[in-house]
Amino acid sequence: MNLLIRPVYRLLNQLSYQSKFLLMASFLAVPLLFLSAQLALNFHTNATQAQQIRHTLTDVRQATKLIEQLETLRDNSVIHFLTRNEKFTEQYELAYGSIISSIDSFDLEALPQQHRYFLTQLKGNIEEQTIFPGNEGASVSVIFQNANNLVEQAYLWRMRLSYEYVSEDNSEVRQLLEMISDHYYYFHALGQARAFGTYHLDIGFLDSFGIQSLDNTYKALTSSLKSIEISSQQYQAVSKRFPDLSQDNKLNQVETVRTLLDDQLIQAIDLDYPALNFYNQVSTAINNLQEENRLYLGMADTLLQERDDYYNEQLLRFYTYSAVVTLLLIYLLAGLYIHIHSNISTLVESAKRVAHGDYELPIEFESKDELLELAIAMDEMRTNLKSREEQLRLHGQIDGLTQLKNRAYFDEAYPLALAQALRSQLPICVIMLDVDHFKNVNDTHGHQVGDACLKQVADLFRQYFKRKTDIVARYGGEEYIAVIVGEPPDSVHEQTEALREELASKLINESRASLSITASFGLASYDGSQGITANELLSACDSLLYQAKHDGRNQVKWRHIDHQPKVINE
Ligand code: GH3
Ligand code: MG
Ligand code: MG
Repeated sequence: MNLLIRPVYRLLNQLSYQSKFLLMASFLAVPLLFLSAQLALNFHTNATQAQQIRHTLTDVRQATKLIEQLETLRDNSVIHFLTRNEKFTEQYELAYGSIISSIDSFDLEALPQQHRYFLTQLKGNIEEQTIFPGNEGASVSVIFQNANNLVEQAYLWRMRLSYEYVSEDNSEVRQLLEMISDHYYYFHALGQARAFGTYHLDIGFLDSFGIQSLDNTYKALTSSLKSIEISSQQYQAVSKRFPDLSQDNKLNQVETVRTLLDDQLIQAIDLDYPALNFYNQVSTAINNLQEENRLYLGMADTLLQERDDYYNEQLLRFYTYSAVVTLLLIYLLAGLYIHIHSNISTLVESAKRVAHGDYELPIEFESKDELLELAIAMDEMRTNLKSREEQLRLHGQIDGLTQLKNRAYFDEAYPLALAQALRSQLPICVIMLDVDHFKNVNDTHGHQVGDACLKQVADLFRQYFKRKTDIVARYGGEEYIAVIVGEPPDSVHEQTEALREELASKLINESRASLSITASFGLASYDGSQGITANELLSACDSLLYQAKHDGRNQVKWRHIDHQPKVINE
């Protein structure tokens, strides 16, 4: 056997089929379980990641609201600082209050350290009025820029917050968040328009700084319009996913503010447009655009929800497949085990049957596998055993010297023959033959000649009683016995007489010796329905033989037994 196979073979030799199957099942199960766990973990990680991103999105949504409020606070604080008009003081205080409550609404404990730090810092800055635009001598642009610092920081902070979990492969969500970040430029330009426009309309005056700042704002709005136009090409993944997404609203809102700024401030002869109207109109446009932000965030949420659903679905499908495969495997292995076990049981039962000497039932086997060969071999063994036992049985019934049936056979067959005769009310005859003075033959011619004589007597005896139902056997040394059923006793008597005569006249030539022998016969016959036992009939025959000997040998004594047993002398 192959060296590689030998250890496995030895191991398997020690195990029952049950253990072999358990071993095989565990060898299959361990890597399968490992693989399944790996896959499940993978799916699970993806699913949790999608959930985490959605959670981040909630933070981004809150951050966006905060930025919007911060932008409003920026504009209002600039206007409030420059105009000292109480109409705007109220707006400023409103913005201040809402931003503080917005910061407080963050679940600071759940946020990573750096974000927590930023928010705490921001709150402190606002409360300490760091947002306060600067000194009175500065130009409006510088004052605005000072106030804008916190807004810029907040934008950067939101970007970091967004990218913390949204990886490259989430390209659509990433683009949506990038787009929201890009909005900084037009929100900045719109904020400038709101602050500068309101301020100049409120004081009704434009100096050279003012003209320059309004001009810059106009240019910023114009470039915002251009960037909005090209952004749809820049963010193709999102456009593909949401084909209805239109940039028209953005363009309209920015365009409206630009026109208002141009008409009421840059091109205006006298600045008589009400400042509050201007403030409100620009604020409406800003609010509309802030709505766009929420739209994008909503889209991102939809995308993440889909992704989440997809992973959950995959996970469910994976678990279902795994369960089905596992059950199928268990089913197959169990089926295989039961199959082998029941086949072996069938063979064991058959073997036990044969072992107990029941050779009649053939060993039947349904399976077409290797065990079938074993079953065929076992059945061959059964038939061989059967015929050999039959041979042995026959052999045990034959007398070796004369080839007649032996005493054992006679003892078995004779009572059956008698019972059969009584049942069928047929006559039955028992004949006993004993060679006369046989001892002398042995003594005179030797045992070899004696044996030859015994054989010849046996052959002759057989010739006289050769019907199938006749029992002819060697009863003892030089004694023979025959049982004849269904023959009239007188005809049997005649035959016995003929036999006696033939034997007496026969010259036996053996080993240069030539001799003749005689024999004495007892014949007991019965033809009644009263019933007689085997022993009764046999001892009757025996005493007849004794009588024949006693009366001079070489003769037949016959007695027919009926109601009144009588002896007929020959
Ligand atoms: P009787 O006429 O009274 O029957 O005299 P007998 O000599 O035949 O009777 P006995 O019982 O004295 O002797 C029987 C002899 O038969 C003795 C024995 O040696 C011989 N004998 C028995 N079986 C065999 C055998 O198988 N072969 C040979 N050669 N002789 C046998
Ligand atoms: Mg004798
Ligand atoms: Mg004798």
